[in-house]
Amino acid sequence: MTGSIAISKIREDKDKFIGLASKMWEHPETAYNEVNACKWTAELLKEYGFEVETGYANLPTCVMGRWGSGRPVIGLLGELDALPGLSQKVGLEKEAVCEGAPGQGCGHNLLNVACLSAAVGIKTEMEEKKLPGTVIFFGCPAEEVLTGKVFMAREGAFDGLDCAIAWHGGNSNGVSTGNSNGLNSAIFHFKGVTAHAGGDPFNGRSALDAAEIMSVGANYLREHVTSDIRIHYVYKEAGTAPNIVPDKASVWYYVRGANRKNIEDTYARLIKVAEGAAHMTETELEIEFLGGCYNSLHNMTLVKVAHECMTEIGAPKYTEEELEFARVLNEKSPRYEKLKAAGELDNGPLCDTVPPLVIETGNGGGSTDVSDVAHICPTVEINTACWNLAAPGHSWQITSCSGMSIGFKGMLFGGETCAATALRIFEDPEILSKARAEFDEAMKGQPYKCPIPKDIPIPQPKV
Ligand SMILES: [Zn+2]
Repeated sequence: MTGSIAISKIREDKDKFIGLASKMWEHPETAYNEVNACKWTAELLKEYGFEVETGYANLPTCVMGRWGSGRPVIGLLGELDALPGLSQKVGLEKEAVCEGAPGQGCGHNLLNVACLSAAVGIKTEMEEKKLPGTVIFFGCPAEEVLTGKVFMAREGAFDGLDCAIAWHGGNSNGVSTGNSNGLNSAIFHFKGVTAHAGGDPFNGRSALDAAEIMSVGANYLREHVTSDIRIHYVYKEAGTAPNIVPDKASVWYYVRGANRKNIEDTYARLIKVAEGAAHMTETELEIEFLGGCYNSLHNMTLVKVAHECMTEIGAPKYTEEELEFARVLNEKSPRYEKLKAAGELDNGPLCDTVPPLVIETGNGGGSTDVSDVAHICPTVEINTACWNLAAPGHSWQITSCSGMSIGFKGMLFGGETCAATALRIFEDPEILSKARAEFDEAMKGQPYKCPIPKDIPIPQPKV
């Protein structure tokens, strides 16, 4: 079977891969601060004979490992960052390792290593079979703030790829076909004039008033946008005490939508709302554009190949202890009753099969910066079960499973599936030409335009 040499290599060296995933779990680092994850990933890539560059694409914590020469060029998209506040022990109770600290609540320790193990497996099989082509592993920072790969794209990191393979841990095994939104993210800072709120409020110009009026305007805007648009916001700064007219207020907005055009149209109107609010309150407005990303674009040619590979390899089985661990976690999940009623827990607490391929038509509502790569070259995202079926997204349950055997089994299965998929593509040029034709058709002659303008600086580590 194509990929069998790669799969053997991943299984043979599994302790090394689990070792790196464990280290990243024990030392979670948030977006753009992935200094250790970047360093450790570079070390392991070098050990396997990859040509390695850190600080790749001008992002200080980005790492790239390349092996081989010529085409096709296949990229694997690892991710390095953890989530703030999701520190959690491996266990059945919600209990932080360190209260308020970051944690692997999205399993990116597994994500990074699954793709790295795939790159190692691919290299081993290509060497043995003397296959032409290049495999590139990308350790991408800052997925959780949805801009890491977008900055990388802006800097040309993915130019020249024939296709890209991504992987993410999940509740079950499959290949992504569901839609996700693109987004723009910006903080609106208002600056006013402070005064004694009781003594001389007439001398004050409240920045908080501006932020609130902006929110009123934004909420009226909702009625007059296309139905795919979602607008959400939080206040970052809203004054200090009621008796002080706030001279500073900030509100952070996301505008999400099903395509870049709808997002940009709405975002432009949101700016007008903010300007109007500033005008009404005689305050000053400064817009801090944090970034944006594309909506999803799944390459169905690659989806089918990946699903075939996953089915052929077969899902890992779990021990009684692992099943019991997942069963208890499920019962503690806020999603438990709903999933149980829907019969989704009838086959056990963990997904241990590869269900038939389902083409999803709905939109999950979220966003991922993998979508930017998907608009640069044909891209597929594989998912394997790494946590209990009822684990909510970005939760302590995911941190718990990502530091133990349930997560590691899913990670290795993910790595094997990514490797087998890539090797099929290397061996059968027909797949890439079909994938490329599908991609060109979907892009309709409109090339990728990075949502982050050139003048926005790349965030630097704060550690
Ligand atoms: Zn994630």
